[in-house]
Amino acid sequence: MSYLYARSDFRLPPVQLTHIDLRLSFFESHVDSAGTLTMTARHPLRTLELDACDLEVTEVALPAADASSAAPLRFMPDPPRRKLLIELPAPVATGETVRVSVRCRCRPSDSRLEGIYRDTTPPFAPQQYISQCQQWGFQRIFPVIDDCTAKCTFRTTLEGDARYTHLISNGDVDRDAHPDGRPSPVPGNPARKVITYVNRVPMAPYLFLACAGTWEVLADEVRYPDGRRIALEYLVPHGKRDSARIPMEILKRSILWQHAATGYVYPFETYRTLCMEKSNYGGMENVGNTTIITEAALIDKDTVDARLIYAHGVIVHEYEHNHCGSGVTMESPFDMWLNEAYTVDIERHFTASVFNPAFMRLREADAIREPGGGPLAMEDTGAFGQIVRDGFNDPDELVDGVTYVKAPEVLNMLRQLLGTHVYDAAARLYFSRHDGGNANTAQFLACFEEVSGESLDAFSREWLFSAGYPQVTARYDYDAERRELHLHLAQTRTGRGGVFTLPFSFAAVDARGNDIPGSVQTVRFDTPEAEIVLADLDEPAFLSLNRDAGFYGTCTDLSATPQQLVRQVRGDSNLFNRVEAMRRLTDLERRRLLADPLATASEPWLDLYRHLLLNTLLPDGIRGYLLKIDELPLDRALLPYVRESFTLRQRLLRAVLSGGGETAVFNALHTLEGRPATLDLPAAIERRSLKNALLNLLSASGTVGAHLALEEMLAGAVNITDRLNTLTAIWQSRHGDRHAILAREGERLRQTPGGYLGYLQVVGQSPRPDVFDAVAAEERRPSFSLSHPGISRALYLPLIRNNAQLWTERGLAWLTQTVIAYAQVSEYNALRLIAPCQAWQSFAPDLRDAVGAALRDMRAALSPSKCPSVAGRLDAYLAMGERE
Ligand SMILES: [Zn+2]
Repeated sequence: MSYLYARSDFRLPPVQLTHIDLRLSFFESHVDSAGTLTMTARHPLRTLELDACDLEVTEVALPAADASSAAPLRFMPDPPRRKLLIELPAPVATGETVRVSVRCRCRPSDSRLEGIYRDTTPPFAPQQYISQCQQWGFQRIFPVIDDCTAKCTFRTTLEGDARYTHLISNGDVDRDAHPDGRPSPVPGNPARKVITYVNRVPMAPYLFLACAGTWEVLADEVRYPDGRRIALEYLVPHGKRDSARIPMEILKRSILWQHAATGYVYPFETYRTLCMEKSNYGGMENVGNTTIITEAALIDKDTVDARLIYAHGVIVHEYEHNHCGSGVTMESPFDMWLNEAYTVDIERHFTASVFNPAFMRLREADAIREPGGGPLAMEDTGAFGQIVRDGFNDPDELVDGVTYVKAPEVLNMLRQLLGTHVYDAAARLYFSRHDGGNANTAQFLACFEEVSGESLDAFSREWLFSAGYPQVTARYDYDAERRELHLHLAQTRTGRGGVFTLPFSFAAVDARGNDIPGSVQTVRFDTPEAEIVLADLDEPAFLSLNRDAGFYGTCTDLSATPQQLVRQVRGDSNLFNRVEAMRRLTDLERRRLLADPLATASEPWLDLYRHLLLNTLLPDGIRGYLLKIDELPLDRALLPYVRESFTLRQRLLRAVLSGGGETAVFNALHTLEGRPATLDLPAAIERRSLKNALLNLLSASGTVGAHLALEEMLAGAVNITDRLNTLTAIWQSRHGDRHAILAREGERLRQTPGGYLGYLQVVGQSPRPDVFDAVAAEERRPSFSLSHPGISRALYLPLIRNNAQLWTERGLAWLTQTVIAYAQVSEYNALRLIAPCQAWQSFAPDLRDAVGAALRDMRAALSPSKCPSVAGRLDAYLAMGERE
């Protein structure tokens, strides 16, 4: 595959940037900049090449002590290469300082969410400006060396309309100029104000922030155990201060938790969280000034559970980036995985400390297996999945499931292989050794090798530099005479490469569900085959393998009989593996139903399911997972049956409802509803997820009783998640009034931003062809905006997961037309829409032809110069076809 950018494009720049002195003036339609870059030459120079994109440069000069004697320099913009060429007046020798001053103007965009861009402006306020510099946004603000290694100090002055409540950049306010820390009027122009920030900690340009906006503030502070305090601010839309109170508490808890876990101490006076409306990502760390989309930043009665969990994750995630990313910065985008893997790992540990760890791990496993953006599905194509990439067309492509989901799994495995103690010591060495500078993949690994005394060559070769995952199979035999258990492991892999080094965990479990003493182990598995002998052991009832998905890949227990799996579902002390065992049993049912259109679910499976319906001893979240029947199978050999997945699920749900099953569902719901309300957020979230599994069952029922019950529950729903889940169940059911109910609820839910986003996510979930009209009707509303990533994604993503409709002729026509329109507005989001097509080669022949034709239609309509990422990705998908 060919890419626009390869690793060789990221050599150290010929100059090292050391300081930027910048003044930005915000106006309604543009931003004017004037500033000076101070650099040190790495090589002898005659000319200087800066990164600059879509800037109107009016002047380049050699700065002098007084501005009037500045000497103008010849310069030439080179837009195709996004460069600004500057002729230096005299040769510069290695090690000499170079300083240039530039004046320029940028015109922020409404939809290109890079550099400074136009966010949604509050009523009666001046234009709201937000910035996003990762990866190459700074060059859209001011000419610069836009490289991760260009870490420099900053002095940033912001000037704008006096009505703005905030003008914000990185660092601390310059107290010499502003003793009270507040902006001052521009001399002679009281309609404008100005403020200067000083950032003495070297920072890469991609972390720069310059915002001018109107917000309300919720202020607080957090104190470290030694008494040092950090001022905390939430900058929120007008009237939303109360909605920042829970996030503020999460933030305070995160900061102290992170300090205890990593020893990190925040180096600035204030840590801010700024609400923004538009962003392709949930949030962005900008050294001390995290920007987060409002819907994820604030918590109120319209915040759905998925968002509540996400809020805990994103708050600690962005804060951790002050340490990992800002303190120690990746050397190039090819090392971006380092920033994210470590940060997501911290995020996972924090959320596991707040919520039930097994429930969280199940959610993480869902993300790994997600058929669109999940890394396993990407890897199944054979073209993607390498963590340290060979190249890319746009840095946004690195913001994907490989970086954010697979890479943290690699660190999770590294921790198990080395032991927590060694892992933590190596991480501390990495952060202290590279503090204030940059680090690359080799330097990261070197710290872990040094502390552990082990070579990580084999581990990193397969996990970081090859695409593909291990497929481990295990089988055991028990020798009753010798009281010995022999566990045979074998690994093959997807993708090209060698044998993976992975931690393999297992336990032998007795009939009562107890782990047999001495049998609980985690071993290093780094050969094609291995045999583990456990001596002096009672015969186990079943084995519990790869607990909590300890390694990334697939694991199949070839010895496990259906009876053993039933025992495991009922009794494994590892809750995660109970759910895995249930999924295996459900896959066996799927196979039977696929083979015989008239078959129904087997009695043992139904018995087990009904047992779970009644089992109130299990934690709610785990029971919800056990009862939830996904369209997605665990067995990857069943994945190509996308068109059948909806019907298979319906047949299983209806089998549960038959023969008195519906009454059991009602009883389970009544028991659940009869329990006293809980104020404990994690417990309430788990309870609602269990209720949703029961709602799904009612949704599949065609009885009047089920429809009436759903309607009643919708009328009585107080919590937003309950309400949306119930509405979804009705919209997916055969309820005669489902259209009217959706319309009526839509009117109400559209009144608030959180309700609107939640409602949009319901619309795309109808399993009938009316889904296309419903989605089109939402697109026509004035509240809908294709360029608002939160809104457009909320409407479109459920439809690309809608297997009942997406793979029809109409569904593929919808996808083609939507991707073509969306790619012109947001390539990043359009990539998410085409992701489910990546597996097209594995589909049934007629579907494969139809999807192939759709992909070709999209590709023909999109120009690689305007939409390089989407066109490149489509080419990659289509090339898979040619390889066959
Ligand atoms: Zn991140």
